[in-house]
Amino acid sequence: MEDDKVTEISMKGAPPCGRCHMLVARYAPQVVASTGTYHRECYEAWYFGRHGRRPTLLSGTNGDRHRYQVREAREKAA
Ligand SMILES: [Zn+2]
Repeated sequence: MEDDKVTEISMKGAPPCGRCHMLVARYAPQVVASTGTYHRECYEAWYFGRHGRRPTLLSGTNGDRHRYQVREAREKAA
């Protein structure tokens, strides 16, 4: 039994990806959704698998260009 993998608290300030559960580095391309933080590639792969198209991502401003937000309002239109 190995349950010492509590990644959520092992790296301060870095949230785990909601899909692959690896930590999302501060400056890595990432998607901030209402359900959590994801690597951008993980989110796109998940979204494409679920909706059959790429998500609409809005890049952040200035120093936060690597942080994308999701246009989630369109999700229910499909
Ligand atoms: Zn990931």
